[in-house]
Amino acid sequence: MMEFSIITIFPKMFDAILNYGITKRAIQKNKIKINLWNPRDYSIYKNKKVDHKIYGGGPGMLMMFLPLFKALKDAKKKSKKKNFVIYLTPQGKKLHQNALKNFYKKKHLIFICGRYEGIDERFIDNQVDEEWSIGDYILTGGELPAMIFIDAITRTLPGVLNSPTSLLEESFYSGLLDYSHYTRPKIINNLSVPAVLLSGNHKNIKKWRIESSLKNTFLKKPELIKKKKLTVLEKKILKKYQKTLKK
Ligand code: SAM
Repeated sequence: MMEFSIITIFPKMFDAILNYGITKRAIQKNKIKINLWNPRDYSIYKNKKVDHKIYGGGPGMLMMFLPLFKALKDAKKKSKKKNFVIYLTPQGKKLHQNALKNFYKKKHLIFICGRYEGIDERFIDNQVDEEWSIGDYILTGGELPAMIFIDAITRTLPGVLNSPTSLLEESFYSGLLDYSHYTRPKIINNLSVPAVLLSGNHKNIKKWRIESSLKNTFLKKPELIKKKKLTVLEKKILKKYQKTLKK
């Protein structure tokens, strides 16, 4: 079982992954465990304050070292597993599907969710193993990024998805984007499902899907095609498709 501990002043936000969908099922199936730790519970102030003004001046407040440190200490103590501490920050390495494999090998991931202007640098320097970001934009807190990490990691864990083979076909796994998908009805608003997908001919369906995956990648993320070593068949299909564009 993989364990996630989250240090956050807004633990209720995590209802979103505790109570819904695949993450909820993964908890029920004992594939993952989520523990929440609130730095406010460790505040030395009567009003449970965890932030303070920033030395040197400037706008905003910063999360203090001590409440985070004490919450982290308890989070580590509660689990017997080897832990790995991640601070979620726009300054961190950017999350990518390929990076997930670094995480699911860890037994206990502890996420530090910043708020305000962030957290005291001494905590980052001395208590954090790695800094990670979900993208080059600024959010109000690390809670949504923590949920994104947990969601993305959980669905890659063995026994979590009902059809694990779908993982292999998804965007990025093979170095290409996923092929296009259709469901019932066969015709809607005069729009039909590609005939080959209704043909029952699995060889042709497979070929159509390779072509669709290549088309999607070529049109939406061409940089992936440059990076990937295409098979002979993929090269042939892509060339044929590119020819149709020139006509
Ligand atoms: N002053 C910080 C900076 O410019 O680097 C930004 C602080 S942000 C308003 C507050 C908190 O939100 C951060 O401490 C971090 O935990 C979280 N956060 C914001 N954007 C994020 C992102 N793109 N990825 C991960 N965490 C983020």
